Amino acid sequence: MSISNNIKEIEAQLPQGVRLVAVSKFHPVEALEQAYKAGQRVFGESRAQELVVKVPQLPNDIEWHFIGHLQTNKARQVVQYVNVIESVDSLKLLRLIDAEAARADRTIDVLLQLHVAQEEAKSGFLPKELLECAAKGELDGLTNTRICGLMAMATFTDDEEQIDSEFATVKETFDALKGGAMSGNSNFKEISMGMSDDWHIAVKHGSTLVRIGTAIFGAREY
Ligand SMILES: *Cc1c(COP(=O)(O)O)cnc(C)c1O
Repeated sequence: MSISNNIKEIEAQLPQGVRLVAVSKFHPVEALEQAYKAGQRVFGESRAQELVVKVPQLPNDIEWHFIGHLQTNKARQVVQYVNVIESVDSLKLLRLIDAEAARADRTIDVLLQLHVAQEEAKSGFLPKELLECAAKGELDGLTNTRICGLMAMATFTDDEEQIDSEFATVKETFDALKGGAMSGNSNFKEISMGMSDDWHIAVKHGSTLVRIGTAIFGAREY
């Protein structure tokens, strides 16, 4: 299967209103160009050093999403290259991104990363913790950052019931914020969840962005 066919096949199955983020990390620029030729315009990268090399080599109507753990010393650089940072996993990082975006005279869309997986290695806000932060007004007062929703990853497992329940938790947390502390924020509408192996489950729970790498580009060579 070609990259182009893979994209078409996934797009044909995505419900209306769900956008595909082509996760191109570890794949060469030529692979991204093939996806671009197939009409793909949203790409996800997870490493700053790779992002800054790829962006200038590709057309400028691409919407770039940063989806990896963002180290604070890379925030200044990443803010200049992306439209969306999906992986905001702490208040400290949120405020830093806002400051760097102001400094660069840009507005950055961000998603807050929710930790729902049963894996210590994954980062993000715990649902309860995020609801408390929001209720206390700790997400307010940003000038150059728009909080557009939540991002999450399910546990890496074959247990579909577990994945199902984790995505359900994300949707519940989103709804609680949307109906509560975020009710005045019309930008707050995205739920980024679902990867190559679990996006069918994610869209059942209201995902609006699926982040798919392997099913488009094949296996990554690290
Ligand atoms: C790599 C990655 C993906 C894509 O994973 P695949 O299984 O290759 O589809 C999605 N989200 C994040 C945060 C990633 O790091």
